[in-house]
Amino acid sequence: MKKVTICVGTRPNFIKVTQFDRCIGNQPNMQYELVHTGQHFDANMSQVFFEELNLKKPDVFLGAKGDSQIEMMADIMVKFERHLIESKPDLVIVPGDVNSSAACALVASRLGISLAHLESGLRSFDREMPEEINRIIIDDLSDLFFVTEQSGIDNLIKENKSKDQIHFVGNTMIDSLVAFESTIEKQDTLSRLESPDEFALVTFHRPSNVDTSEQLSKLVSILTKVSEHIPLIFSIHPRTLNRLKEFDLLLRLEANNRINCVNSLGYLDFMKLLRNAKMVITDSGGIQEETSFLGVPCLTIRDNTERPITLDLGTNTLSELEENYVMNFVRREISKKGDEEAPKIPLWDGLATKRIVDILSDYLER
Ligand code: UDP
Repeated sequence: MKKVTICVGTRPNFIKVTQFDRCIGNQPNMQYELVHTGQHFDANMSQVFFEELNLKKPDVFLGAKGDSQIEMMADIMVKFERHLIESKPDLVIVPGDVNSSAACALVASRLGISLAHLESGLRSFDREMPEEINRIIIDDLSDLFFVTEQSGIDNLIKENKSKDQIHFVGNTMIDSLVAFESTIEKQDTLSRLESPDEFALVTFHRPSNVDTSEQLSKLVSILTKVSEHIPLIFSIHPRTLNRLKEFDLLLRLEANNRINCVNSLGYLDFMKLLRNAKMVITDSGGIQEETSFLGVPCLTIRDNTERPITLDLGTNTLSELEENYVMNFVRREISKKGDEEAPKIPLWDGLATKRIVDILSDYLER
């Protein structure tokens, strides 16, 4: 029996691994353990996802601590090393680009354990993003690259990775959307939040948009302007909530009766809103993919995206944090009547996790 360790630590990670339990369960030669690093620990950023997405209770909770990102990564590394030495898995899987994944990848690699990267090969080519550095480190150390889109293959080839190790499997985040489609449909979120027929859904959490008073004030002013044209539901990430309080901007948002400010939502509520939104305004990575899959127009307030398929085939548009650009998008989308057809993105079909587990099973047998 081969043993796989799946490392998760943040909201987007939890959403990317929901189908492993079922798919590994179907393999006679494999078992897995789930390690939660504790990078996200608030109930509405962690526990709610375990409950809603039927994730198994983590076999190990590292409870990582640290006042800075590096301190937390160091703590994860120390604790994960102790765990791996005892647990001795045959392979470690890390998803995405978060600090937890980079820390765990480094430890697995140093201990000589095979490493697989979910969502491999994505590049923003912007090393000011901590996530970009994490992606590069993880891919440099990985033995198996599971890729969501063609750009991932191209980037890995350019970085001299062997074609045999690169597997174009699709998108495990979309697997969750497909698996939970009917549950999402049944949610009473729209009536519970008294959401209007037409609304824009908003999320922000990237340091470049929320960490300085200047940028965050600008963002609040732009959202205020947008709300004159369409009501907003703003799902506020804990990091953004702290900054809004710190810079005295929260009251201004809350006083606006066209902006419904809600604390970060669970997956089912958030997806119900996303499916029904007229448009989404965000700086999230994963939401660019989910909106593209569902055919919901998305404005991403960033200079670049590591997910270019969402621009080429999907519904995503990039924009600077500038009122004119944002308002042009908002006016254009408001004037469109009816729903557009959701684009078809290669292999985003709900079966990525199955493909990955089949490949892992072969790899571990060899
Ligand atoms: N999400 C959620 N509730 C929210 C906001 C986002 O469940 O209130 C989900 C979202 O649908 C996506 C994931 O969280 O699947 C993305 O997480 P985030 O934007 O924090 O991370 P990123 O993708 O930017 O790394």
